[in-house]
Amino acid sequence: MADSNPPERTTELKERLDAVRARLDAACRAAGRAPGAVSLLAVTKTVPASDVADLIDLGLTGFAENRAQEAGTKVAEVAALRPDADPRWHFVGGLQRNKVRAVLPWVTRIESVDSPRLARAIDKEVGRAEQRGERSGPLPVLVQYSVDGDPHRGGVPDGDLDELSDLVAGLPGLELAGLMAVAPLDREPARAFAAIAEAARRLRERHPSATELSAGMSGDLELAVDHGSTVVRVGTALVGDRRIASE
Ligand SMILES: *Cc1c(COP(=O)(O)O)cnc(C)c1O
Repeated sequence: MADSNPPERTTELKERLDAVRARLDAACRAAGRAPGAVSLLAVTKTVPASDVADLIDLGLTGFAENRAQEAGTKVAEVAALRPDADPRWHFVGGLQRNKVRAVLPWVTRIESVDSPRLARAIDKEVGRAEQRGERSGPLPVLVQYSVDGDPHRGGVPDGDLDELSDLVAGLPGLELAGLMAVAPLDREPARAFAAIAEAARRLRERHPSATELSAGMSGDLELAVDHGSTVVRVGTALVGDRRIASE
């Protein structure tokens, strides 16, 4: 692992971050929302720990990963590179139940809870970790909502949202913080975000403390902000198309 980036890469990351922040500010203004109403989560799934270290130096505090194993390694590397930083790590990918235990030591929030089985598995591991004295308190999670109900893409179909959110809200090891969604590429984006916003509104009505809406990525963050997103998850626009494997 490279401990630090070449200066050109650090400069590139700074320019990209400035551009994303400018887009986010403009989107908040255009939507009539306060600047800073939407937080920025850097999706670092394709880049090395040295990029995360640079982004920490540039003031970012929230990061997202979508593969348990890659993430665990990276979290440890970042902790070694920036021992005084305390970044938040969100998990945003498909999570197998047998990987829950591995992510618990570092994960701040799991955004991809989309089935009762996964919810129960997380609850069980949180309980065990508490008994071992390794953590205390429930883990904040988001329920991942599927706009089109396609089971291959992850997310709970619309008809199962209420039941899953009631289950999550009732599990002692989980704290239902809100909704996460990915707008499908093959849908008219404004309609997809309208459906996501409606699902989030329904969730908040049932569970008033579930206020977060994690929606919007590099290509559609403006639309997401316009539809009430509170967190955008930005990968490509921030870090480019680099992949760890090509290093
Ligand atoms: C990769 C990823 C993102 C970021 O997508 P970009 O288009 O690269 O910004 C956001 N959310 C999830 C769940 C992802 O897997």
